[in-house]
Amino acid sequence: MTDVLIAGSGPTGLTLACELALRGIPVRVLEQREGPHRESRGKGLDPASLEVFGRIGAAERMCAAGARKVILRKYFDGAHVKDTASGDGLLIGQWRIEEVLRERLAELGVRVEYGAELVGIAQEAAGVTARLADGRTVRTRYLAGCDGGRSSTRTLLRIPFEGHTEEALMMVLGDVRAPGLSRDYWHQWFTSDGGGIMLCPIPGTETFQLQGSPEEDGEGGAMPPTLESFQRLFDRHARLPGIRLADPTWLSAWRSNVRMAARMREGRVFLAGDAAHVHPIAGGRGMNTGIQDAAALGRTLAAVLTDPGGSLREDALDAYEAERLPVAAELLADTTRRMERVLAAVREPGVGTEAGMD
Ligand SMILES: Cc1cc2nc3c(=O)[nH]c(=O)nc-3n(C[C@H](O)[C@H](O)[C@H](O)COP(=O)(O)OP(=O)(O)OC[C@H]3O[C@@H](n4cnc5c(N)ncnc54)[C@H](O)[C@@H]3O)c2cc1C
Repeated sequence: MTDVLIAGSGPTGLTLACELALRGIPVRVLEQREGPHRESRGKGLDPASLEVFGRIGAAERMCAAGARKVILRKYFDGAHVKDTASGDGLLIGQWRIEEVLRERLAELGVRVEYGAELVGIAQEAAGVTARLADGRTVRTRYLAGCDGGRSSTRTLLRIPFEGHTEEALMMVLGDVRAPGLSRDYWHQWFTSDGGGIMLCPIPGTETFQLQGSPEEDGEGGAMPPTLESFQRLFDRHARLPGIRLADPTWLSAWRSNVRMAARMREGRVFLAGDAAHVHPIAGGRGMNTGIQDAAALGRTLAAVLTDPGGSLREDALDAYEAERLPVAAELLADTTRRMERVLAAVREPGVGTEAGMD
């Protein structure tokens, strides 16, 4: 029997695994994917996340792989209007954050188990039995569901995911190359028709993360993301005929969900990160909040598992939810307000994503 089984090897699961392994607690990490991904996704680490990474011995490598200062270059109807400096965070692709955390975790003696999808959970007084898609079972004292917005853990426990989906608010995303486009700026083009496209250079790569308002089909629906549609969006908003987007390594569409789990603990099972809360991306708080969840859950589980008398139990386990559930509620309200601010602000020339920052 292991002490803690973690479902999901995103930033939340990997941070939690490092927190526990560092304290000498036996931990296993299950990941349904067959191997690591290479998607830029969450690309901004805030100072509080860097503090957590400092404690687990990963901050130096993270800082070496990322970029401290980024200039946000704003254009309106194709014309350059203004440049603004980014805040105190670190720009770094999410795949690289996960790679650094996996490296650190391996140094602590733990490797992610790929091709291991959690599909069943049974709890009794002494522990939890997790069932995997390939028929294996794993016994553990505690299970942490760090398995993202579509969390199997949350679904299996029938924990309500309360909130709503913003049907109208959708974005296409991807990682592409844009030969000839300067990599010194996070380019943000907005147009008086209300649409826009942004290309952010991902450090240590030749790619840009593209975020854009989707094209609509004849009936007002959003068109799926393709390189061709990205190019059409780029031509419409950036108006730089010499630049041809190329080599997409990630194509995706994102819809704004504003939801949180009704509970973050059910007996010996916990939820953390996107499994417990999803919300608008304005302000870049999702991954950072998951990292703080992981730090808090690591503290809670370590306190119980390393308590020599074994007297710390229910109250100590409840501390995690008591601390983090109000944070999740505030996160949903805050990011909704930030998103409204960004959507209103980009109609004015010279404003971009900084309208969603503090
Ligand atoms: C374009 C974009 C920009 C963003 N920018 C930012 C930003 O600047 N800052 C920020 O803080 N956040 C940002 N985010 C949000 C961020 O990407 C997420 O909040 C973050 O990935 C959540 O991490 P997680 O570890 O909780 O979940 P995930 O990253 O979703 O990881 C969950 C993992 O669990 C695995 N899994 C799922 N089900 C199972 C199962 N049954 N068994 C085993 N494994 C399973 C999945 O394969 C996955 O690897 C952005 C997102 C997008 C799309």
